Amino acid sequence: MGKLWINPIIGEAASVFIRGGKQIFLVGGAVRDLLRGKEAKDWDLATDALPEEVIRLFRRVIPTGIKHGTVTILFKGCSLEVTTFRTETGYRDGRRPDHVSYAASIEEDLSRRDFTMNAVALELPSLRVVDPFNGQGDIKRRIIRCVGDPHERFAEDGLRPLRALRFAAQLGFSIDGPTLEAISAAISTIAKVSPERIRDEFDKITGSAKPSTALLPMEETGLLERILPELARCRGVEQKGFHRFDVLDHSLLACDYAAEHTFSQRVRLAALFHDIGKPAVRQPGAGGVWNFYRHEQESARLARQIMTRFRYPNAFIEGTTHLIGEHMFHYDPAWKDAAVRRFVIRVGKENLEDLYDLRRADAYAIAAVESPVDTLLALKNRIEETLAQSQALSLNDLAVNGSDLMAAGIKSGPRMGRILQELLETALDDPAQNTREKLLEIAGNLYKRSP
Ligand code: ATP
Ligand code: MG
Repeated sequence: MGKLWINPIIGEAASVFIRGGKQIFLVGGAVRDLLRGKEAKDWDLATDALPEEVIRLFRRVIPTGIKHGTVTILFKGCSLEVTTFRTETGYRDGRRPDHVSYAASIEEDLSRRDFTMNAVALELPSLRVVDPFNGQGDIKRRIIRCVGDPHERFAEDGLRPLRALRFAAQLGFSIDGPTLEAISAAISTIAKVSPERIRDEFDKITGSAKPSTALLPMEETGLLERILPELARCRGVEQKGFHRFDVLDHSLLACDYAAEHTFSQRVRLAALFHDIGKPAVRQPGAGGVWNFYRHEQESARLARQIMTRFRYPNAFIEGTTHLIGEHMFHYDPAWKDAAVRRFVIRVGKENLEDLYDLRRADAYAIAAVESPVDTLLALKNRIEETLAQSQALSLNDLAVNGSDLMAAGIKSGPRMGRILQELLETALDDPAQNTREKLLEIAGNLYKRSP
């Protein structure tokens, strides 16, 4: 226990409670992480002081969750969540306790917490460990286990099974047998959790170092079928001739690869969903092999449907589905420069890195082996070369704009838009045309031909 390091500011805040005659404990994730030898992310404290007493003890306090007995203390640059010992009764909607009542002791407070690893308290300033459910043993064995009866605990709050799965992925812990079994039984309660809350846990899963640690047990328990049926349906969709794995395992491998290489969040989701349209589009082909013609479009459509359901922000949905829709790109060194420029315009300069990353994840997941990146490197270099030569890539990069055309006697409106598009096409095919004089001349000719 010698290596427990607690921010001295926490110690100072604790002494304010002690001087006020109150008990104060460090609880939750901070204790779990300290016991795992990791640095604590945030500091949750539990006390026998009532919220109004905490408010009286400290100058700067925000009543963040005062109905649940929680206030945030701003103390010497730290923000500390302080919750009065509590018990919870009545979970009518499977999510929110009907009313909160305060508990008499830290032990009682710990008994309402979700998992044994999250139900250890450190008394301040003594650092005495309060561990009524052997959370320390479970942390040592890397096991996630409910406090008390898992069926009851999950029936009270459908968020808990999702938290169990999320912690499994974040911490690399395994879920204890009875706790895992209780997830299957709690599926209808989990379905009552708001899409935003599910999404938050899902993002932590895909944001972890190995998302399949949660996604596989999610499948095993039947939860995947309930919240991501589109993905569950990829199980058993074989792709002989192309791949070693069925579509689900391939997708999980791609997502794990993206996570392992700390690719962006949208690449991780794109990796998970990039082939999700395959079950719908597959057609029997020659030699007993399935064809998945244009599956990337169906995958983008389904991914959009899923992400809309989980209320992802629109810009994030657009970015992710765009990557999915483009993931089948191929590059041939015989491409003309104009083809390279068209590719960059279609994908968007700002999306190139993510698209390369997605392709690397996809290529790896074909056989779970690192694949050569020669083609990708060749394309990357070619794009850099081409971009260095010419900047005519969007309407903004043209040597003329709408006002120039108006000054040359072309009326604004849809026709002018079409003329600008044609000028862009011209500049893409031949960057040397992207000068003011040449473009104005071409525009004049186009206008004369069909005024
Ligand atoms: P993280 O590292 O994600 O912050 P954490 O364990 O600190 O992990 P929080 O959501 O910050 O998680 O919650 C703090 C503590 O509150 C938990 O450790 C747990 O003891 C308790 N807790 C949180 N959510 C629940 C819940 N739904 N049911 C029971 N106890 C919970
Ligand atoms: Mg926390």
